Amino acid sequence: MQIMRSIINRALAANKNNVFFALSICAVIAGVAACESKSRDTTPPVIDEGSFLPADCDIYYTGDTMQVHFVCSDDTELGSFNIEIHNNFDHHTHGTSAVDCDEEEGGEHEHDEEEHHGEDESHDHGMVEGAWVFSRDYAIARGKTSDTIDVAIPVPTGVSEGDYHFMLRLTDRAGWQSIKAVAVHLRDFVE
Ligand SMILES: [Zn+2]
Repeated sequence: MQIMRSIINRALAANKNNVFFALSICAVIAGVAACESKSRDTTPPVIDEGSFLPADCDIYYTGDTMQVHFVCSDDTELGSFNIEIHNNFDHHTHGTSAVDCDEEEGGEHEHDEEEHHGEDESHDHGMVEGAWVFSRDYAIARGKTSDTIDVAIPVPTGVSEGDYHFMLRLTDRAGWQSIKAVAVHLRDFVE
């Protein structure tokens, strides 16, 4: 902007009537700026909600396998993703959703705004003894603008049953991130 202004001022000083000349220089500069921003990735990647697994309130048993499935895309290039599972024994929520599953009612409801921890990710998730803790990074092949992901996560035995959060953090090559939180329930497998 500073450059544009000085060009305008100089052009106007050189020839006060030559406003058209100054304006055309501005148009060229604006055009170049627009082209530059188009080639840069300025939008976060997209997680398709449609066929996403796990689904909210899904129940898994210890020793079971959690099938993760989702379709993702980015306008420029996908990068990587992280899957993280932590206990929800304190019934917290995330600004990025994760409903609270009420087993007795068999339904689900969203917390009120005041109950949200919002984007606060700093509290001690998964630090409860015996609770299942999982976190792993996965790379997405270079040059992809869309991908279908299938990951099988073995649910360990000997971990505490209860409510858990499944967190997907999808990052594009430029570093933009989209997060999806899903509330799941873990039960002890009894023969
Ligand atoms: Zn959580």
